[in-house]
Amino acid sequence: MTQPPAISISDLRKTYAGTKGEPGKEALKGVSFDVPQGGVFGLLGPNGAGKSTLLNILAGLVTKSGGEAEIWGFDIDTNPRNAKRSIGIVPQEIVFDPFFTPYEVLENQGGFYGVPRAERRSEELLEAVRLADKRNAYARTLSGGMKRRLLIAKAMVHSPPILVLDEPTAGVDVELRRQLWELVSELNAQGVTIVLTTHYLEEAEQLCDRIAIINHGELIANKPTQEMIGMAREKIVRVTVDKDLAGPMMEQGFVKADVVEPRTLEITYNRDSTSAGQVLSRIQEHGYAIEDVTTREADLEDVFVQLTGAG
Ligand code: ADP
Repeated sequence: MTQPPAISISDLRKTYAGTKGEPGKEALKGVSFDVPQGGVFGLLGPNGAGKSTLLNILAGLVTKSGGEAEIWGFDIDTNPRNAKRSIGIVPQEIVFDPFFTPYEVLENQGGFYGVPRAERRSEELLEAVRLADKRNAYARTLSGGMKRRLLIAKAMVHSPPILVLDEPTAGVDVELRRQLWELVSELNAQGVTIVLTTHYLEEAEQLCDRIAIINHGELIANKPTQEMIGMAREKIVRVTVDKDLAGPMMEQGFVKADVVEPRTLEITYNRDSTSAGQVLSRIQEHGYAIEDVTTREADLEDVFVQLTGAG
């Protein structure tokens, strides 16, 4: 039995109005994709690709110019109230009234969503984002990391089945990034469908089981993460030889050859046309004996660069 998608987007379009005779900006040019239930879905793309526009349409903050979107089966045009209740959005910007405590922030948000007092989960959510001990501190006294965790709790007060995070770890240090990843994984394990945008390919690779890439307002790929990584056609092999190298050697089938250490070469080759064995024999033909070989699988960065043509 296949479950209906958590989010379904069809031919979504947005053209921002131009100002003073300037032409409008076409930020989304007919984007279609589904976000399956229960996973962690990554929306990737370079700056200006249209990611925020797409999320803002789902959040009801930007009016689309065309197309359709359903959230948890609710059409955002004909059933906006239920659509909005099905999604929690963690914004990029940290915005809190500095004089409220974390507990009050969550209670106020619960009130805003009309969650009855008896059904509020403020304590439980503070526990979940490890802020129980800051329950009564002023929001302004929280560290940046604590504020981000509070934003996640705030997005969950109405218990939405879908949580959307816009660049959750932009500009945070390695330790905090790890903590936020853990939190996202925990929520996902509890059954929450996660959608996130990110600039960090490593983050997408670690967290997401499916990745969509948009560029210039168009969807250019949408695949399971593993498949996406497998799309890179180039492979890299690092070869250490028995004596100093005379210089780079470009051979048939090599895309790139760099001398990275006096006795170590890094060869990039296209795995469709060349094998690792062929690469090694071409090096041996130059009179070198091979002492060590390591290969590197393509990572998401390679795929991303190939697909977006980004440098
Ligand atoms: P991303 O989130 O991927 O960086 P955005 O959705 O923010 O991309 O932007 C997509 C395009 O739309 C960009 O060219 C941006 O300049 C333009 N844009 C975004 N918001 C507005 C707006 N309010 N008015 C006009 N143009 C906008």
